[in-house]
Amino acid sequence: TRPRAVVIGGGAGGATAARYIAKDSGGAIDVTLIEPSRSYYTCFFSNLYLGGFRSIDSLAHSYGKLAADNDINVVHDWATGIDRDARTVALAGGGSIPYDRLIIAPGIGFIDDAVPGWSVAAQNAMPHAYKGGSQTEILKARIAAMPEGGTFVMVAPPNPYRCPPGPYERVSMIAHYLREANPTAKIVVADPKEKFSKMALFQEGWNDLYPGMVDWIGSDFGGGNVEVRPDSMEVLIDGEVVKADACNVIPAMKAGQIAHAAALTEGNWAPVVPATMQSRMDENIHILGDAAAQGDMPKSGFAANSQAKVAAMAVRGALTGSRVFPAKFSNTCWSLIDTDNGVKVGASYIATDEKIASVDSFISQTGEAGDLRAATYRESLGWYDAITADMFG
Ligand code: FAD
Repeated sequence: TRPRAVVIGGGAGGATAARYIAKDSGGAIDVTLIEPSRSYYTCFFSNLYLGGFRSIDSLAHSYGKLAADNDINVVHDWATGIDRDARTVALAGGGSIPYDRLIIAPGIGFIDDAVPGWSVAAQNAMPHAYKGGSQTEILKARIAAMPEGGTFVMVAPPNPYRCPPGPYERVSMIAHYLREANPTAKIVVADPKEKFSKMALFQEGWNDLYPGMVDWIGSDFGGGNVEVRPDSMEVLIDGEVVKADACNVIPAMKAGQIAHAAALTEGNWAPVVPATMQSRMDENIHILGDAAAQGDMPKSGFAANSQAKVAAMAVRGALTGSRVFPAKFSNTCWSLIDTDNGVKVGASYIATDEKIASVDSFISQTGEAGDLRAATYRESLGWYDAITADMFG
């Protein structure tokens, strides 16, 4: 019988890992992917959907091609537990699946009571839109329904969280939409941080392109002292009541629940050995993407994809004796500020004993010419197509 690799989570990290293990082992490894959703909606480019640049359907990816082309057994179910001694994964629908190596890439969960007054029970009134699909559609509908001159409030998350520029690209895309649809509307951002990713670039864009629309309240000004009342659509920012016509609460995050259930976490995240992405708690388990505590990489789809290739190589090495090369990682996070106005930040990385360490980095500059910004945006369009093909086949 063939050695067995099982992957929990068919997102950016998990789909890539399953595909590369199956494809590069030429069928020598039996690969199972466990993922409850039939369609994966990317969070990447979901802000462009809010801005009116993409359809929701253009963000959806199904698993049929991945399964058929690579002979991967895709099981649409939730993993509910991991028996690390027996090396089996229990499924919500009953039964269990044995593994020789397990890869987990469950993404994020939200920390309970991180924003007083908010829980997932309130996610219809105040969507997080930080997991793909319906939540993003709800947020878009809430913004479209704002009265003329209404107020949109975002509660931004503390570090570390999924996609560091994500909330601020979202502000830009909502401003882009409102400038046309509701030009006297206001955007208030309550932020528990004093600075954020690509801050100078975003603030320049907000001032120049959406003047007077965005009020960013950082931690120095009480932005971290927030409570929400979903029933009355009120947000208390440092004791002051703001009436919201639409509200986006992005709570503090932690590794997806299954990582905690399997005792693979230390605090909120799951620590890994950088060279192989193996859990520091269990050498038979590799942890990828947002759930991992790995060092310098941001929690991004690009990073999860990059880590998945390193883990896939390590899994093949362990199960078939194939050659394992030194780990290298890369990441770029693009953001769209306005039509044809893209910016980016990125780096390449190596594995040290202690962490995934950044070796060089780059970032767009303020004051860049329009054609450079347009070229950066086009680059991001090419990236989306290439990386989703790399994940889902
Ligand atoms: P995910 O992609 O979330 O995948 C996790 C999967 O695991 C899910 O499909 C889930 O259903 C499944 N799962 C969870 N628990 C279980 C279980 N118990 N059993 C079975 N399956 C389970 N990244 C970029 O690179 N570029 C961007 O431009 C970008 N923009 C973003 C914008 C926004 C608004 C947001 C929210 C994120 C953005 N990201 C971007 C970040 C990116 O979406 C995430 O970092 C990436 O999806 C992480 O991949 P992952 O595999 O760790 O988790």
